[in-house]
Amino acid sequence: MATFDLVIRGGKVYSAAEGTFSEKQICISEGKIASIERPSGRPTASRTLDAEGMLVLPGLIDSHVHFRDPGLTHKEDFETGTKGAAAGGVSLVFDMPTTVPVVTNASLFREKLETIGGKAVVDFALFGAAAISNLEEIHKLARAGAVAFKTYTVSPPKERLKEYEGSFITNSGELLQVMERVSKTGLVHCIHAEDDSTIGCLTDRMKFEGRKDPLAHYDSRPNFTEAQAVFDAITLSGATGARVHIVHVSTAEAATLLRQAKLGKSSQVSAETCPHYLYFTKEILQRKGPYAKYNPPARNQEDMQALIAAINDGSIDVVVTDHAPHSKEEKEKGAEDIFRAPPGTPGVETRLPLLLTMSYKGLIPLESIPRISSESVARIFNLYPRKGALSVGSDADLAIVDYGKIWQIKAEKLQTKAWETVLFDGMEVRGRVRQTIVRGNIVYEDEVGFGKMGTGELIRGEAKP
Ligand SMILES: [Zn+2]
Repeated sequence: MATFDLVIRGGKVYSAAEGTFSEKQICISEGKIASIERPSGRPTASRTLDAEGMLVLPGLIDSHVHFRDPGLTHKEDFETGTKGAAAGGVSLVFDMPTTVPVVTNASLFREKLETIGGKAVVDFALFGAAAISNLEEIHKLARAGAVAFKTYTVSPPKERLKEYEGSFITNSGELLQVMERVSKTGLVHCIHAEDDSTIGCLTDRMKFEGRKDPLAHYDSRPNFTEAQAVFDAITLSGATGARVHIVHVSTAEAATLLRQAKLGKSSQVSAETCPHYLYFTKEILQRKGPYAKYNPPARNQEDMQALIAAINDGSIDVVVTDHAPHSKEEKEKGAEDIFRAPPGTPGVETRLPLLLTMSYKGLIPLESIPRISSESVARIFNLYPRKGALSVGSDADLAIVDYGKIWQIKAEKLQTKAWETVLFDGMEVRGRVRQTIVRGNIVYEDEVGFGKMGTGELIRGEAKP
């Protein structure tokens, strides 16, 4: 009889085909799932995990994190970032290209890989930046292993140019050219969709009026500024055939545009939202000031309801985090003038319990959580079924979760260096990650600790030659 490396017994295992959880036994060999069956007998294994009473999900994938390494490691680094991921049930992260230097060509891609590779506790993929200035580098970046491309349609503040140089475009003509180039690689083009010129105008107006209060952030980036840029990106996707993914959708207007776009049979558009848009309205800006500043801003109750409806009808495909940590000192710069605070909030470690809590409240079916947090992410980025699936032959990436456990998020217990800025601090949630497994390696065990740094490997994109 075969001896397996790891056997997981007694858990309720998610099946994508059945769309439900049922008791099964998972046998793992050489990093892959060797079998998933109704429990029968006791297979011999080097290690057996008893998952009695637990849910077993495909390891979560977070296709939107900023781990700040290299260049900004006072905010986060690849060790703390991937440890947070592991503790959150996440087995694969996609790191954004806005490190220092920005990942705008193949040699910078390889340099970044060299810097971070040995620190990763979970698997990782890396974005390339795409803008007019690196048009000729886009295909080379794809061949070097980039998983997808990222473009901002809004310009950064001057003092943060070195984090964004070569990743933003502020007019449609340039976006058209870059999208054409990205689509030739066969990879997905992720768009941060906020309209530069209207936001610029409104920000100038706020400053002229002397507005520095937290809500000035919201008022300088109203709903329509997201809708403008989402409409532009969807339209250009239709024109070029580019596979466009809209990141962090925050408004009812954008959700409606996506629903409409997806009616088209040849639509190549997908979209994500994040927990901070599902839990907070703009009122959080008044309560938490600069700590609640992120782009796009927190919205209104109607937007929150529209986003949940869009998740449930498929207009929004996935919920990821836009984990974007900044130090307390950096956030405090916005205490007197909101425009001086950097935007972004940590989230990689808290997504799963927040989604499970939403399911417990009846907002999202429990059965859809594996799809919106893992399976659909893998499908969008062409990694399915190697990643995002509990099926024979897939990488043995799993999250084992105690759904019955109610606990309180304590920021100081989280792995992120920016724990002092965590907005979900103190919140009571449901569902605690017990183990996270990456290719058969237990990389996190609750109350025990983490696997070795360097266990995580680069997952390359599936580019056209
Ligand atoms: Zn981001």
